[in-house]
Amino acid sequence: MIENYSNTKALLPPPVKLVAVSKTKPIEAILELYHAGQRDFGENRVQELTEKFEQLPKDIQWHMIGHLQTNKVKHIASFIHLIHSVDSINLLKEINKQALKNNRTINCLLQIYIANEETKFGLSFDEAEQLINSEELKKLLNIKIVGLMGMATNTENTEQIHAEFKSLATFFSKHKNFKTFNFELETLSMGMSGDFHIAIEEGGNMVRIGSLVFGVR
Ligand SMILES: *Cc1c(COP(=O)(O)O)cnc(C)c1O
Repeated sequence: MIENYSNTKALLPPPVKLVAVSKTKPIEAILELYHAGQRDFGENRVQELTEKFEQLPKDIQWHMIGHLQTNKVKHIASFIHLIHSVDSINLLKEINKQALKNNRTINCLLQIYIANEETKFGLSFDEAEQLINSEELKKLLNIKIVGLMGMATNTENTEQIHAEFKSLATFFSKHKNFKTFNFELETLSMGMSGDFHIAIEEGGNMVRIGSLVFGVR
């Protein structure tokens, strides 16, 4: 596993941050990477995430990468490092409320729907645009939108994957110079085990990699 980890890291140019996706993987596997220096780990279920948080070193930076229900935000609000899967203003309001209760600011990515598949969550570009320009966003003092996340279609067609990531990178660039106290795009989270090369070519600076590092689930 350490070899997989080193090999994967060697493929990432320095500005690209690796989030090791540890969903379904045991504590021991996470600790092995932790001892090799990895600090950013991603999970997609709240229950599993909180259990792992409790058992593992407190300097781990936990990323919530899966769909998040509003009623579960309270369970992760005290410790979550970055939520990648914000897909509505309502969810953002709840994150803000729970962040305030915990006397902190929670960093978030807007998840944008770029795939040509029915199963992927996220905002359309129009919806994201509306959220970014909304009056409601300006009232949220305890969240900060620091970037965007997207998942490409699971396909062999690399041209399509390029096009989907490019569309997200273009939207990212378009909003990069718009900065407020709670909005400043820095992180472009795109790319998984099968398509991270393409994501990086298209300008992604954070990749979420599970099976390539930990082995297939
Ligand atoms: C599982 C998952 C990943 C990692 O997938 P791999 O193919 O194992 O690298 C990345 N992003 C999200 C949102 C996931 O749910």
